Amino acid sequence: MENPTTDKTPVSNFIRTIIDRDLESGKHKSIKTRFPPEPNGYLHIGHAKSICLNFGLARDYGGICHLRFDDTNPIKEDVEYVDSIMEDVRWLGFDWQDKLFYASDYFDQLYEYAEILIKEGKAYVCDLCQEEIRKHRGTLTVPGKDSPYRNRSVEENLDLFRRMRDGEFEEGAKSLRAKIDMASPNLNMRDPVIYRIKKAEHHRTGNKWLIYPMYDYTHCISDALEGITHSICTLEFEDHRPLYDWFLDQLPVPCHPQQIEFARLNLSHTMMSKRRLLELVQNKVVNGWDDPRMPTLAGMRRRGFSPEAIREFADRIGVAKANSVVDFELLQFCVREDLNKHANRVMAVLDPVKLTIENYPEGKVEELEADNNPEDPSAGVRLIPFSRNLYIERDDFSENPPKGWFRMSPGKEVRLKHAYYVTCKEVVRDAQGRISELICTYDPLSRGGGTADGRKVRGTIHWVSAEHSIPAELRLYDQLFTIADFNDMEEGKDYTDYLNPDSLVVNRVCRLEPSLRDAKAGERYQFMRQGYFSVDPDSGPDGLVFNRIVTLKDSWAKQQAAKS
Ligand code: ATP
Ligand code: MG
Repeated sequence: MENPTTDKTPVSNFIRTIIDRDLESGKHKSIKTRFPPEPNGYLHIGHAKSICLNFGLARDYGGICHLRFDDTNPIKEDVEYVDSIMEDVRWLGFDWQDKLFYASDYFDQLYEYAEILIKEGKAYVCDLCQEEIRKHRGTLTVPGKDSPYRNRSVEENLDLFRRMRDGEFEEGAKSLRAKIDMASPNLNMRDPVIYRIKKAEHHRTGNKWLIYPMYDYTHCISDALEGITHSICTLEFEDHRPLYDWFLDQLPVPCHPQQIEFARLNLSHTMMSKRRLLELVQNKVVNGWDDPRMPTLAGMRRRGFSPEAIREFADRIGVAKANSVVDFELLQFCVREDLNKHANRVMAVLDPVKLTIENYPEGKVEELEADNNPEDPSAGVRLIPFSRNLYIERDDFSENPPKGWFRMSPGKEVRLKHAYYVTCKEVVRDAQGRISELICTYDPLSRGGGTADGRKVRGTIHWVSAEHSIPAELRLYDQLFTIADFNDMEEGKDYTDYLNPDSLVVNRVCRLEPSLRDAKAGERYQFMRQGYFSVDPDSGPDGLVFNRIVTLKDSWAKQQAAKS
């Protein structure tokens, strides 16, 4: 697999400017980036931004992008996540070739480096518990207090650290801390913990280790060991950069990668924290990580978003230094644009009402030709059966139509897509007074849209043949949250107060044209006038299940047009 090529000239940004400069000055001959997920959850659309950025830069500059798992926390990490992350990166269309790494592969090296720090008097074993360390740390305005263990001798530190490694102490009893500056204005520099005792099995190193390096210590050294030239991360790590630089300056690492921070993606009506997303899964608010309402790549894939659409979205949002919230509509716009080109059109009636053509012969069936995609003639045509008994959409009929109504109403002629002109003659109601059937006549000469006298009708509606149509389950999704920007939450409330009770509505009354009978999981269609739908993997012998990917309504493009 090749990394996706793009025929677009990449839009420049501040990261590209830095890279251009580094290549021009000869600081680097080629670039090496990396995508460094922690395998403690599934990837979300925010990670996609980082993946597209890192792999995209490597592609555009003829460099290399590593995939590295920053797996320093055995408690929260799992092979399930490792596997899903690899699947998602590949699905997005990127390839790390043989450049797959794990921070846990560097545990021996990291340990040796820790001993070097100790020997040089730059790290010490501290007996304060986590809580006490936190209290000693001070605040932005109050300097921290030195640990009483800060001035242990090198010999004692080395001995204690080795005994930590050998499992002599309980979890929390001791930690190894960098000896930097408890008065630093940067809290990250106030003697951060670099090793803690954790008697936990690691998904890769098993029971070899009883102490584990902290993320901050591991991350920057891993980058250096891999020869990463540009270590690109999100803005919240800006304050960690001095610490990373400190570690790299103290240790005999092979190189000193340059860290560059960019603004993380926030998307309206959803959230990007793996911890929160895990809560949604664990509390069964959603049906798993791949629930189509989740902002995860697994969820978006299941819903029917294509990798091309997500890459296009990543291109459009670009990279910047300022945090902002991107409108979910922009993502939907990209999804729609892509589907419009590739999804075949079919007819499905979501809320059926019977339509009977009284002058159409009983028992007769015609196979009418329909083009699959007007945007793409190569998509070909299919045949759809037409008969005396049809279903149309209940809301395509109005007994007392408002002004400007072009759909069906008593006495008014409309076009049935790919078929004939029909006119409603009579409305039949059931005992409850609800419309149960529309009796119509058709013009036999109007097949395919033309008429003998050249008259035109303005309304076209979709339909299916009652006896030939097939049932299905449609899962209609809406935003998972009713709030666009979580920064606007009312005081005292949390995200669970903003769950949308209607984020999933299931429709089991729809009728679909029979060509969908053999639709396969993952296929995407446009249900004409209704939206784009994908075939869910839950489809089986018991019936078809479709996910609504997006509606057809494009409010984002409209908003943009209104602004300009
Ligand atoms: P958590 O949600 O637990 O804070 P994380 O989102 O930082 O974790 P990582 O696995 O550490 O998860 O992320 C891997 C990479 O993806 C990091 O380089 C991180 O900066 C980047 N990343 C994470 N979230 C976003 C986001 N919303 N927008 C852009 N990049 C992101
Ligand atoms: Mg992280």
